[in-house]
Amino acid sequence: MRKKSIIRLFFLLGLMFLVLTGCKGKSVANENILERSKKTDTIVWGVKYDTRLFGMMDIKSSKVEGFDIDIAKAITEKILGKQGKAEFVEVTSKTRIPLLKNGNIDAIIATMTITDERKKQVDFSEVYFDAGQSLLVKKGSPIKSVDDLNADTTVLAVKGSTSAINIRKHAPDAKILELENYAEAFTALQSGQGDAMTTDNAILLGMADENPEYTLAGGAFTNEPYGIAINKGQKDFLDAVNKALKDMLADGTYEKIYQKWFPGSTQGKVD
Ligand code: GLU
Repeated sequence: MRKKSIIRLFFLLGLMFLVLTGCKGKSVANENILERSKKTDTIVWGVKYDTRLFGMMDIKSSKVEGFDIDIAKAITEKILGKQGKAEFVEVTSKTRIPLLKNGNIDAIIATMTITDERKKQVDFSEVYFDAGQSLLVKKGSPIKSVDDLNADTTVLAVKGSTSAINIRKHAPDAKILELENYAEAFTALQSGQGDAMTTDNAILLGMADENPEYTLAGGAFTNEPYGIAINKGQKDFLDAVNKALKDMLADGTYEKIYQKWFPGSTQGKVD
């Protein structure tokens, strides 16, 4: 009798295992993203919604616009053809890797620097933009470069960004206040919660351009090569993205997009 109930228990456990594994949706790890995007004619991109020139939501048109957005659209077209749809989901520096890993997005194109630390979690495309970290201050500020950041100054940075990590090395004495996103960080700078804000020069230029009472202080003190992040184990998709980028560089698509967002400049452009 005892033996019978043990057998029955094992049988039930086995049945439960089969039901559970059978019901589970395809996880990101075993789904071929390239194949799926070809079936659905869609690539879902994680992009910034608050970063002028790269990914910014236009409230009037309800459309997100910027260099990253146009590069994502062009890659989508190269991979899926004219009917291909680029879908956009908002990410911040802090949420982008978790959202990718959870399968909410297929790729990140969001002012994201390729670093060895991040390479442990995701794969990166070839570099599509070269930025460098700098500072934004109010015009007339005594802070002229990163060397002027001392124990009496507070620097504003964004959580999950390389800037928040790098500034600790380059200005070890300065106080650092980390905000959730770039919109919040700039508001904090305007309200005097910090003496300087730090992130990539290209992002800061977008802010200074719109707010002429602010200016960049000193040159770039790091290299921030931007890459498109893709989940590990998606070699087909990664290859397709890299091929699309290469074709865009060769056929002038990249140049056209670059000139649209950075007219007359060469800063950050790759070749
Ligand atoms: N490029 C830097 C980074 O990847 C700063 C910009 C950002 O936060 O997205 O962290």
